[in-house]
Amino acid sequence: MLELERTILTAEMIAPDTGELISTRIEVRVDPLTGHTSRIVPSRGLMPPNEFDLEAFARENQPRCPFCPDRIERLTPRLPSAIDPDGRIARGEALLFPNLHAYSSHSCVSVYSPRLHYLPLGQFTERLMADNLAAQVGYAKAVMAAEPDARWASINAHHMLPSGSSLFHPHLQGVVDCRPTTLQRLLAQVPAAHFVAYLDAERRSGERFLVREGRVEWLVSFAPIAPAELRAFVVGVSSPAELDDELIAELANGLTRALNAYAELGYESFNLAMYGAPPGTAGYPLNLRIACRSNLRPFYRSDSTFLERLHWEGAVDLAPEDVADRLRDRFRA
Ligand SMILES: [Zn+2]
Repeated sequence: MLELERTILTAEMIAPDTGELISTRIEVRVDPLTGHTSRIVPSRGLMPPNEFDLEAFARENQPRCPFCPDRIERLTPRLPSAIDPDGRIARGEALLFPNLHAYSSHSCVSVYSPRLHYLPLGQFTERLMADNLAAQVGYAKAVMAAEPDARWASINAHHMLPSGSSLFHPHLQGVVDCRPTTLQRLLAQVPAAHFVAYLDAERRSGERFLVREGRVEWLVSFAPIAPAELRAFVVGVSSPAELDDELIAELANGLTRALNAYAELGYESFNLAMYGAPPGTAGYPLNLRIACRSNLRPFYRSDSTFLERLHWEGAVDLAPEDVADRLRDRFRA
């Protein structure tokens, strides 16, 4: 049986005003899959709810947006014909094209819709998410068919500037490459039995488990890298390229619930990473992380500190169990 490992540290100091001894509890948790550690510190409002007028900011930057309807055809690149003869992949309102600023040999961007320059997290719908995921899955399949060495696919998002997006217009990003990213590599090295034991342990404890929706299981991370971090596991497929329409719909359902719930908590920026291993990797469940980022505001505090960036150590003041308590109803409704 898998034991979720945690160590309690105590920091002691003298209060500046009363001179009394203060003790602060810090919990260091070990991620059961990759072994990275994460610090859960007492709640002190590190992630304030959104107060920024995003709609006004959207109106201000829209005239220059290359992803809006009157410019997207003209200003975005087209896929090579070996990958797609039409140059772009369309599913519903979603439209996918190459990333002009590539990070790998196959990098793409897909907007939920050219008309949706502003898409607050409370207005995400399953349709928008499913169509955009379907475009990404179509891309991963097409790249792998054209280039058999490119076996490592991921579907990612950064939404709003604090999460790393240089463009305001909401979109997903896909990467298909001949080599994994660091976390894809670490996750692909995890023995299949570890995934099974982790999910068993979380199901049994129930403290962080959210729901099993079809073939997709959702839970709050035991050792989060980022605030309000959720994980989902899809048993039976190892790559986004293997997702069928039913699984895409199930994933879109969960992701939409997560984003709508983030909006209720006051968050408007997030990151997503769906970590694919090569198709057919035995015992590897396709899995994802989704997490909130700081809200946009002048002179905002980044939630990514020396710990996350340079120690690869999560540090959050939102206890995973509290996040689960606040999100559970949303997932089971
Ligand atoms: Zn736009």
